[in-house]
Amino acid sequence: MAELASLVPELLPTLRAFAIPMPTKFRGTTVREGALLRGPAGWGEFSPFPEYGPRECARWLACALESAAYGWPAPVRGSIPVNVTVPAVGPERAHAIVTGSGCRTAKVKVAEPGQPASADIGRVEAVRDAIGPDGKVRVDANGGWSVDEAARRLLSLARFGLEYAEQPCTTLDELAELRKRVDVPIAADESIRRAEDPLKVRAAGAADIVVLKAQPLGGVRAALEIAEACGLPVVVSSAVESSVGLAAGVALAAALPELDHACGLATMSLLSGDVTAAPLVETGGVLAVRAAVVDDAALARFEVDPQGWRERLLAAARFLPARFLPARFPPAPFPPARQ
Ligand SMILES: [Mg+2]
Repeated sequence: MAELASLVPELLPTLRAFAIPMPTKFRGTTVREGALLRGPAGWGEFSPFPEYGPRECARWLACALESAAYGWPAPVRGSIPVNVTVPAVGPERAHAIVTGSGCRTAKVKVAEPGQPASADIGRVEAVRDAIGPDGKVRVDANGGWSVDEAARRLLSLARFGLEYAEQPCTTLDELAELRKRVDVPIAADESIRRAEDPLKVRAAGAADIVVLKAQPLGGVRAALEIAEACGLPVVVSSAVESSVGLAAGVALAAALPELDHACGLATMSLLSGDVTAAPLVETGGVLAVRAAVVDDAALARFEVDPQGWRERLLAAARFLPARFLPARFPPAPFPPARQ
């Protein structure tokens, strides 16, 4: 099997581990931890979330090995439009976040537990005002609504002109039912965690758009194949990685034949630092398509003992996918990292 698995003994000695604080809580924690590997093609990031077991981690590892050992397929665009994300803040703060970014698309968090419907309306209204009539506004409920609630809430938000609603409900059945009841396009995010999920989303008629992430789906090539098989428009999103992990998401967005929506890759702002001297941050609403290299001085601020990550990597390596697709998507010269 596994040309990928055969890379592990060679790359494991290069492993470095990081723990970067986050100013705001994400997934119940305020630190983002992960590991970095260096190979002949560059750097790769292995940063599955703490609760994931070895089988699930194997896809994240495949992405890291692909980045470090093979490199990525040819980009078909030189920059990726990205969205600014507006958390569940008040209208004034929401307005300032949007005007402070160069993005022409804003993703607004809605359905925050404990907040009334009026909070969502005030926030979305402020964002529409800040971004202007030509900007795009999407909402993300992280599965927080029932079908009835989602139908009601989306109806009241529709007057602000929504590009789409991301994961308004939890299950595929709920999304499919909602999709028949509202005109706002529906995007599936949390519904997609495994390679087969985008196909299930499509088969269930549950979404108009799929949100794909490079690490959880097993790398850039695996995600490209999934996008092709699924046939729905794709939004590439990050798993809130360092710039090394983000670069794989950028490579995926850069290689997709069609990219009609801004991507959720402007997430460096969620971390208080980075492992590279030239972070992949948004300027003028886009991310440049390029690699990221680890900078020793930058990493030194966040470097931690790698032993736990070595063990996690070896446990994941036993479940690496047997199938890898370098022949189908040959590695191409990629714009180099800025130093
Ligand atoms: Mg989402």
